[in-house]
Amino acid sequence: KQKEAQKKLKNIKLMVTDKDEDVFFDDVAGIGDAKVELMEVVDFFRKPELFRASGSRIPRGVLLCGPPGTGKTLLARAVAGEAGATFIALNASEFVEMFVGVGASRVRDLFAQARAAAPAIIFIDEIDSVGRIRGGAKGNDERDQTLNQMLSEMDGFDNEAQVIVMGATNRRDILDPALVRPGRFDRIVHVPLPDYNGRIEILNVHLRDRAHSDDIDMHELSFATNGYSGAQLANLVNMAATVASQRGSEEICQQDIEQALDFERLGPERPPFSEAARRRIAAMEAATALTCTLLPAIEPVALVTIVPREKHPLGQTVVKANEARELTGLWTRRYLEQQLLTTLAGRAAEELIYGPDDMSTMQQMRIMDARRIVQKLVVSAAMNENPAIGPRTISVPRRVGSLLMQAVPRYLPTELHTIADQEMERLIEAAYEEVKEMLQRNRAALDLLIEGLVEKSTLQGDEVRSIVEQHANAQDLQQRA
Ligand code: ADP
Repeated sequence: KQKEAQKKLKNIKLMVTDKDEDVFFDDVAGIGDAKVELMEVVDFFRKPELFRASGSRIPRGVLLCGPPGTGKTLLARAVAGEAGATFIALNASEFVEMFVGVGASRVRDLFAQARAAAPAIIFIDEIDSVGRIRGGAKGNDERDQTLNQMLSEMDGFDNEAQVIVMGATNRRDILDPALVRPGRFDRIVHVPLPDYNGRIEILNVHLRDRAHSDDIDMHELSFATNGYSGAQLANLVNMAATVASQRGSEEICQQDIEQALDFERLGPERPPFSEAARRRIAAMEAATALTCTLLPAIEPVALVTIVPREKHPLGQTVVKANEARELTGLWTRRYLEQQLLTTLAGRAAEELIYGPDDMSTMQQMRIMDARRIVQKLVVSAAMNENPAIGPRTISVPRRVGSLLMQAVPRYLPTELHTIADQEMERLIEAAYEEVKEMLQRNRAALDLLIEGLVEKSTLQGDEVRSIVEQHANAQDLQQRA
């Protein structure tokens, strides 16, 4: 009977997984306590009599909240797998579009079929697209009827019903309160982005069934993928497998993963520039990598490249991710000031090597970055000595958006505006002179880095450090230690 019901469900174009595609809790990693919280749902399917006997509230609806790609769908499938339940998945926004005018009756069918296929889990992805707050000017009849029908189906579950609805959203904030009332989606489970250890666990899950060498440095890899979701990590492993097979190997090794990472970070390659432009870009990137390496508050360089890529057509210096800083939002003045130097290094190198009359527009994006940094130093965070623009002038920083070139937010009174503008200008000029001198002091290392980049297009962090340690100015090296 269950089989028959499953077949019918497939006819109404829902995703119903077959037994051999089952997923289990072991396949989902790095999501904190979410699995523990969902054990209750699994238990309800496995031992419903215990629930009834103890009188505890039977779960009807569970809301999985978290950013895209964190494994919400996977987790719902795993709950079904663990519980031996039929898994019926649909996407709410597609559902509403597909069944215009008949949404409510389709919901009724859906629940009837699910009851017939029970035990069953109905998984509704993007539930916010039907479940957002109803009414108002932006009210949508179609959506409201679909939602109302869904709520009334859930209200109608009796204690014997072996059906649970799981919804997924990354917009918990816009959900209609009626949806999260007791007896409806009253269990809320957060599915966060994985942290350092979580990323290692997820990578292990995806490497588990693939041949891989044991030289893979999981610690480095987890550092490098700070902020990645589970889906992005899975994608990275897939890409590494492709890289491995392209070099004729069935085994993924560290280098394959590094290449996949570069691809992820920088995008696909673009056609090469002329030789003259390449050399100029090499000079700018070499200067950036050099200053990043010499300045103690800046993270170590992971790699520097002048291969034109979709996301960074003019080359790129990648520094290692610093999870602590990103998590705590601890941006110190010292860090910002040194970051300012690295941001201006490319332009300073261009002036040093090509002369002031032959500078190009290539560095304009970084000059905007520099403006953002000084804006933070002077206005948003008041980290400067000028008594005229102390913390008392600070109000809520506002995004300047398209007014990026106008560095001071408009809420400042005019006279402060001018003072702050001058202060920011002064900081940029001083930083520019400072980094130019730094490059002059370290010209030997700079030239070697340029040659290295022109020759090889990409230098790894260790190669950069080795050149800097051997050829940089002794005093600069000492300051760094
Ligand atoms: P969401 O539903 O949150 O958008 P998905 O469950 O669709 O995310 O994730 C897509 C794919 O990414 C999964 O099928 C799985 O391969 C991988 N993935 C995502 N999160 C995880 C995780 N926590 N553990 C293991 N794999 C994951």
